Amino acid sequence: MTTDESILGRLSALRAADLPVHGGRTMAYVYDSGRPELDELAAAAQAAYSGVNGLDMTVFPSVVALENDLVRRAAGLLGGDEQTVGTFTSGGTESCLLAVHAARTHARRTRGIDRPEMVLPSTVHPAFHKAAELFGIQSRVVPVDGDRYTVRAADVQAAMTADTALVVVSAPSYAHGVIDPVVEVSEIARARGVLCHVDACIGGWFLGHLRLAADAPEIPTFDLSAPGVTSISVDLHKYGYTPKGASIVLFRDDELRRDGYFVHTAWPGYPVITTTLQGTKSAAPLAGAWAVVERVGTDGYIELSRKVHHTTRLFIDGVDKIPGLRVLGSPQASLLAVTSDDPELDVFVLADEMRAAGWYLQPQLAYLTSPANLHLTVTAAMANPESATELLDQLSAAADRARAVGPAEVNPMLKQAAATLDPRTLGPDEATAALTMAGIGDGNALPERMAPVLAALQVLPEPIAARLLPEVISRLYRGTIPDR
Ligand SMILES: *Cc1c(COP(=O)(O)O)cnc(C)c1O
Repeated sequence: MTTDESILGRLSALRAADLPVHGGRTMAYVYDSGRPELDELAAAAQAAYSGVNGLDMTVFPSVVALENDLVRRAAGLLGGDEQTVGTFTSGGTESCLLAVHAARTHARRTRGIDRPEMVLPSTVHPAFHKAAELFGIQSRVVPVDGDRYTVRAADVQAAMTADTALVVVSAPSYAHGVIDPVVEVSEIARARGVLCHVDACIGGWFLGHLRLAADAPEIPTFDLSAPGVTSISVDLHKYGYTPKGASIVLFRDDELRRDGYFVHTAWPGYPVITTTLQGTKSAAPLAGAWAVVERVGTDGYIELSRKVHHTTRLFIDGVDKIPGLRVLGSPQASLLAVTSDDPELDVFVLADEMRAAGWYLQPQLAYLTSPANLHLTVTAAMANPESATELLDQLSAAADRARAVGPAEVNPMLKQAAATLDPRTLGPDEATAALTMAGIGDGNALPERMAPVLAALQVLPEPIAARLLPEVISRLYRGTIPDR
């Protein structure tokens, strides 16, 4: 019989295959405050709001009250003033999409630009490339400074044209955790009447609170207190430690925010005004986020941020002491990218070894001046000296094992085959053959050890890799739930 118990039992059985979301050893995707009582509070707040539809703010006024409260807090934290307004969104991607959408409308309305462009550092989050694709905007990508991984203001300036609607900078970037020169770039944009968005999705809540600590490190200005910054995104479901589905995009003034709204009254139904990309939207993430932010409070976030900051510094120093390993750039937040200078030590093999030991470090492929590396996001759950020591010990031991295993090898036929493949005409049979050579068989499950697959991806020309990846994902989605 299908009882509640058996259904919940099956859900937890399925979950057993996932990486843990608590404990801090999954060092990407999940953010654990280390305070279990916050999860309980959030769950209760979400349950109370799960049926409320944020689509119509006129019939559910409580969603407006909660959103205004969160936006006011974010504006206070990130250099806003009385003019600052904002919107609560489902996540960083939606916040970035809205900022670009508003900028496109703004450029049309105020500058008569029909074919808007935006200038993006090569390290910018893919959400902006998604926005370019969705909204039909031409992007001009600017490479970043060699081994610092931050964009140079002069390069941004050189990439601007009369059609530039928006320039984007990151504070910090996801891949390397470094902060672009926000003040310089935003001044250049301002001088030309161009908008400037700061992507502080991952770092805004963390850095904003860290700089309030008595023993705060030096953090450059990265927010609306720079006069040229016209919008900024900050995720609550990252360092706000709220349930997933929570982010905020702030705009310098109401006119710019309104450029991002969607209005449609020319149909026989109710007049539609949406402030985000969603239609019907659950108010559960909003209520969950509000409850957690209220409970932790400014002092609580300062403390969580301090702990994370100190642990990140311990990691950076410790990693640099492990033979063969090195941290890329000078990370200024709570993220770091670890590379190997030893040809016998393959970072993707290292990731497999760490995963077998219970830690998830996120493989990042080589791109331009950035070598293959592993990304670590430090969250509060593991921000204590014991966990830091444990991670460093494990990393050092796993590096020895990875050296013994040796670098992942790529089927030499794959590289040869890749040279003959045309990504535009590549059919399913050729894709299957290439994937088999890359070590991903016909089955719909991924191999346990990912290093050979990543090594294969690394040797493929980027357009071929981009053509093959959706093939892999689409196979996954042809599967069914087991044990039915
Ligand atoms: C996480 C992140 C995003 C996108 O946010 P999602 O919440 O994953 O949609 C954008 N920019 C940066 C720098 C990020 O780290």
